Amino acid sequence: MSKVLYEKDIQKEVLQAKKVAVVGYGSQGHAHALNLRESGYDVVVGLRPGKSQQKAEADGFQVLPVADAVKQADVVMVLLPDEHQTAVYEESIKPNLDAGNAIAFAHGFNVHFSQIVPPSDVDVFLVAPKGPGHLVRRTYEDGGGVPSLYGVYQDVTGDAKELALAYAQGIGSARAGVLETSFQEETETDLFGEQAVLCGGLTSLVKAGFETLTNAGYQPEVAYFECLHEMKLIVDLMYEGGLENVRYSISDTAQWGDFVSGPRVVNDETKERMKEILAEVQSGEFAKGWILENQANRPQYNAINAKESKHQIEQVGKELRELMPFVKQPLQKDEKNEQ
Ligand code: NAD
Ligand code: MG
Ligand code: MG
Ligand code: MG
Ligand code: MG
Ligand code: MG
Repeated sequence: MSKVLYEKDIQKEVLQAKKVAVVGYGSQGHAHALNLRESGYDVVVGLRPGKSQQKAEADGFQVLPVADAVKQADVVMVLLPDEHQTAVYEESIKPNLDAGNAIAFAHGFNVHFSQIVPPSDVDVFLVAPKGPGHLVRRTYEDGGGVPSLYGVYQDVTGDAKELALAYAQGIGSARAGVLETSFQEETETDLFGEQAVLCGGLTSLVKAGFETLTNAGYQPEVAYFECLHEMKLIVDLMYEGGLENVRYSISDTAQWGDFVSGPRVVNDETKERMKEILAEVQSGEFAKGWILENQANRPQYNAINAKESKHQIEQVGKELRELMPFVKQPLQKDEKNEQ
């Protein structure tokens, strides 16, 4: 088994002597900046003018243009959307890095796929929380944390690993577990996981179940409760105690159905498709497509997004959730992807 590290395994001094620039104040940025500050680290936020800037200032941070924040800092954590990192890096980050500084990322995409080539005289590391930014913040406030992977791409000072670990501790991840990885492993597993399982696999499974029921004439409200709403309750059980805990809690009828029907839905053919997806991630084919899609101003992304938002499951879901006030409201648009 790989060694998972916790609070007691981590030295904090190496980061305490330094100033951290958190560049970006979106989903991850706000969580890193607030958690690091509350863990006792010295944080400045780097942003262009806009909503995020107002939010970071309201949270009491010194907010500077990205170039100035980088100049002041010893450690620069890049928490911009992956698609915008290269441009901001070339214009405002790279020219202002000093020898012996560190540049850090929460996802290895741009470094691994050569969109950012860091200078040879800085440390380069990764701290990738395995959870959404808003939970990085919420769990920290509740005394917990989201686990993180850390990895070192380049170590010029001899301290890169200790810096990465202290950073992970600062955002609360050492409360949950910190595990070593490489930029390659983090990038490939993260892209595969979100495409095949967490995001793509899950939303497609939910939609397919919903469509099968409604096409067979069942009420959309019933199909929504069955295929989407109840998903969270099952996943909570899985999160707390694995598959065994789900199977303990569900009826034996449900468990028998799980055993005999689950492998017919996700079968050898599905696994073949998963292998294809993984191969496209590994070869850089997925990355190339996404980079080009962005260069073309996202024609396919926008078209699919518009179509998806009109799906019946979204319409019926909105109506049903309004009648369940205890269900937390979705994230406001300015909390996520504020540009
Ligand atoms: P986000 O879209 O939520 O926030 C981006 C921030 O960057 C915003 O504050 C925005 O105002 C700012 N910004 C955008 N363009 C800018 C520019 N040109 N100059 C200055 N500031 C600019 O992004 P995010 O989802 O937090 O993602 C940040 C990084 O974290 C990415 O590398 C992503 O892969 C990684 N990550 C995200 C999550 C997640 O939960 N969203 C999880 C793990 C890793
Ligand atoms: Mg500097
Ligand atoms: Mg990801
Ligand atoms: Mg992820
Ligand atoms: Mg049972
Ligand atoms: Mg049931």
